[in-house]
Amino acid sequence: MKHFLLWVILLTMPLRSSLAANSSRSSVASEIAESPQVRTALDWFLPNLSSINELQARLAEIPAPPFEEEKRAAAIEPVLTAAGLTVHRDKIGNVIGELRGSEKEIVILSAHLDTVFPAGTELKVRHEGARMSGPGISDNGTGLAALVAVARAMQAAKIKPRRTILFAANVGEEGEGNLRGMRALIDAYRANIKAAIVLDGSSTDHVTTKALASRRLEVTITGPGGHSWSDFGMVNPINALVRGSVRFISTKIPASPRTTFNLGQIEGGTSVNSIPHQSRLKVDIRSESEDELARLESALRDCIGAGVRDEMESARDRSKGKLEWKVDLLGSRPGGELAANSPLLAALRAADEVVGNSSRLERSSTDANIPLSLGIDAIAIGAGGNGGGAHSLQEWYDPAGRETGLKRALLTILEVAGIAPEKAR
Ligand SMILES: [Zn+2]
Repeated sequence: MKHFLLWVILLTMPLRSSLAANSSRSSVASEIAESPQVRTALDWFLPNLSSINELQARLAEIPAPPFEEEKRAAAIEPVLTAAGLTVHRDKIGNVIGELRGSEKEIVILSAHLDTVFPAGTELKVRHEGARMSGPGISDNGTGLAALVAVARAMQAAKIKPRRTILFAANVGEEGEGNLRGMRALIDAYRANIKAAIVLDGSSTDHVTTKALASRRLEVTITGPGGHSWSDFGMVNPINALVRGSVRFISTKIPASPRTTFNLGQIEGGTSVNSIPHQSRLKVDIRSESEDELARLESALRDCIGAGVRDEMESARDRSKGKLEWKVDLLGSRPGGELAANSPLLAALRAADEVVGNSSRLERSSTDANIPLSLGIDAIAIGAGGNGGGAHSLQEWYDPAGRETGLKRALLTILEVAGIAPEKAR
């Protein structure tokens, strides 16, 4: 009996105090892991791996381009309901499954629904042995399958958490989605959110605790347009874009703080024998430092402005009109960082210890940017197995060993959410 009470106390103790002393960390971790209920949940994964893999392939074959996640959302909604959650769809399109806790504080477990692939991309999953390939199979088929698997494992073990867990399949992580799904989630539950755990892609080798700040910009240059022969000498928006781009790509970039840029998409013109009336360029810039980001953004504006000037000055015939240009902000992802002594990181470390995993801290651009930028504890982790070729048509996923990632996610969320005391059920 005494032993039982100790269990209840340990399992329901607020995480902050139970993890305050580093020395007690691993023992608390194994307490959670060895609770018979949690054991049942952990043991659920292995015999159910094939259904988890099947769900992953099924979801990956449903198109979910940015801003068109509706079909995939509709497919995962009943699956989360069947996992015992109270499910609803919010206005922006997030599917939210609630596992009500004994307290009103909230922990979010999320996986993004969207992919980078435009409508019409062939999504048929190819199977070679256990290995699956297809666009989006790992990013974020793995995360979505794990989201459901963790809910089902808790259902099988009849776990009632202390803090409410929201299982969210959210929209808008990739590209121009600009994290709008996560922004909406945090907005809606802001007052009660204690932590967010983002499941993104495969592997168990890292934990993203630092949010990489980024900006996505679109350059547009417009001019009169004309005939390639008879109007030769007229200002050309593609020429101007090339001139400006050449200047920009020679901008000095520091090695530290690490800073990157990518000219990712370019378009313009109507035919080979027309002087175009428009050119466009999309640029992604990222940095560990907000200052570098601002510097690079203004360098882009300066370079494009100079490119446009060069083109206008060298035009032989200035009577036929001039160029206009602008740079629009398509998206901005704020930076942020999880405190080294945060209970969430301690929970992840404890889970790693139980499953025999080791992981390195990483900085990256994920849904966790939003909570981290607001001072809410958040991490992004892979959901197990191995994948590669993310954002390419050759993307693949190998589920071997994925149970490690599933157990790691389950233990982390339970460490943070806690388990409701018997009397509160
Ligand atoms: Zn992703």
